Amino acid sequence: MIEEGSKSSKSMVEKRQLFMEMRAQNFDVIRLSTYRTACKLRFVQKRCNLHLVDVWNMIEAFRDNGLSTLDHNAEINVSRLETILSSIFYQLNKRLPTTHQINVDQSIGLLLNFIVATYDSEGHGKLTVFAMKAMLATMCGGKILDKLRYIFSQISDSNGVMVFAKFDQFLREVLKLPTAVFEGPSFGYTEHYTRTCFPQQKILLNTFLDVLMADPPPQCLVWLPLMHRLANVENVFHPVECSYCRSESMMGFRYRCQQCHGYQLCQSCFWRGHASGPHSNQHQMKEHSSWKSPAKKLSHAISKSLGCMPMGEPPHPVFPEAAERPQDLAHTTTLESPSRLDEEHRLIARYAARLAAEASNSTQCPPSDLSFNFDANKQQRQLIAELENKNREILQEIQRLRLEHEQASQPTPEKAQQNPTLLAELRLLRHRKDELERRMSALQESRRELMVQLEGLMRLLKDEEQKQATQTGSSPHSSPSHSASCTMPMPIRSTSAGSTPTHTPQDCLAGVGDDVLDAFSQGVPRNLRNDLLVAADSITNTMSSLVKELHSVDDGLEEEECNMRNGREKAESE
Ligand SMILES: [Zn+2]
Ligand SMILES: [Zn+2]
Repeated sequence: MIEEGSKSSKSMVEKRQLFMEMRAQNFDVIRLSTYRTACKLRFVQKRCNLHLVDVWNMIEAFRDNGLSTLDHNAEINVSRLETILSSIFYQLNKRLPTTHQINVDQSIGLLLNFIVATYDSEGHGKLTVFAMKAMLATMCGGKILDKLRYIFSQISDSNGVMVFAKFDQFLREVLKLPTAVFEGPSFGYTEHYTRTCFPQQKILLNTFLDVLMADPPPQCLVWLPLMHRLANVENVFHPVECSYCRSESMMGFRYRCQQCHGYQLCQSCFWRGHASGPHSNQHQMKEHSSWKSPAKKLSHAISKSLGCMPMGEPPHPVFPEAAERPQDLAHTTTLESPSRLDEEHRLIARYAARLAAEASNSTQCPPSDLSFNFDANKQQRQLIAELENKNREILQEIQRLRLEHEQASQPTPEKAQQNPTLLAELRLLRHRKDELERRMSALQESRRELMVQLEGLMRLLKDEEQKQATQTGSSPHSSPSHSASCTMPMPIRSTSAGSTPTHTPQDCLAGVGDDVLDAFSQGVPRNLRNDLLVAADSITNTMSSLVKELHSVDDGLEEEECNMRNGREKAESE
């Protein structure tokens, strides 16, 4: 009895731990609700170590845990959620260096309690797949662009057009985050938000990104890009004195008054609404996320006036939008060089688009054109076989590199300092390492494209299956509406904001899956979805081999350099 009592009170303490720690940070003195919300959510993100999990690793974790094949409205219970979170954090530790391991159990505990408090406030012990995906994809690390692309893949139809009801559902879920950190009055969900964000009728990917990444972004989501900018400037140093607190330098954002000459505030003072002398917190402030020395500023101004500055870069790259038609797959080409990786992911994209088109057509007309299906199947097999060839090629090259590297490591330290060829070999090794890194990032990029395609596709197929099974209606329920209010004017952003990204997630991926050839040895038409998955796994395997290889090249380089140094020192002391 006593034990049980202490156990439950212990779990109560655990449940409140994150919120108690957040309160201790005293974020409530921040006067602008947007900054307050972003700071609180950034705190939660870092405390749970979610900032170390890149959105792509998150998507992979969803897939590994079988969430991609689940309907968005399917419910998962807390113990399944716990399993998913453990797999996310155990995989994270595998990617982190041994010196930077995180406390997995603590991270799971804190995050689990936060999610339950946010999404299951009534204590049903369940939440929907969509709520969990929306929450984790919003709160994890990585670029906001990647996150928004993933979210769009989850809320759009087979023609790449946003489904308004799904965006509304996304808002409903994601706005539970500010509410969870007690910012509901400013950023709680209301029904008219969807139309406020998108008055247009047809929303494609690029419009979606334009709107959500605009400056300023839609009011209800204004805290989201801010949370990312906050992360980017965390370690930015400004060697300037704060005009209010007189600290000699600043970290993070720097604010400059547009009216008072030379009046600058650190983020802490500005957020708290501090003002001194003739300056008032009603003055318009400009937000800077970098610092330029006066000399640099001058050269910038000169080159700008001479017209050699690129003007107005688009905030995001333009992505292909409409799903391509089936026949476009016909120009399947062979992939013979590593530079064809772009081609590779375009093929995968087409393949996915074609599958999606098939899935959405299947309800209207049963597949009657068998010869077409057979043809398509042949092309799919060809594509996968090509991917497999590429995989084998890369693996062979890795093998060759490893052998070469072993030979290079043979000479003893004594020989090393007299051996000029070793220096040359070291240089070669370094060059190969760069080459490997380049190829790896190209592969990584094509893999990301593939994962977005896969996610969207699997959801589409799922939707189709569901549509065929049942016709259900949903009843949206409303929540009290609040309007955002702030007493201080929002700062304007500096246009020359060259912010420094501060965290680089170790983006290697753990490989899973079977040999691709196996999947096609029977030569019978197989489940297309599985085929795509196998293709994805094949790339994953290549990726993880490359990562391993890179690490071993790294170790090799260190070892060689150490040997060289030792050799030299020994020679010098003799
Ligand atoms: Zn200050
Ligand atoms: Zn002022």
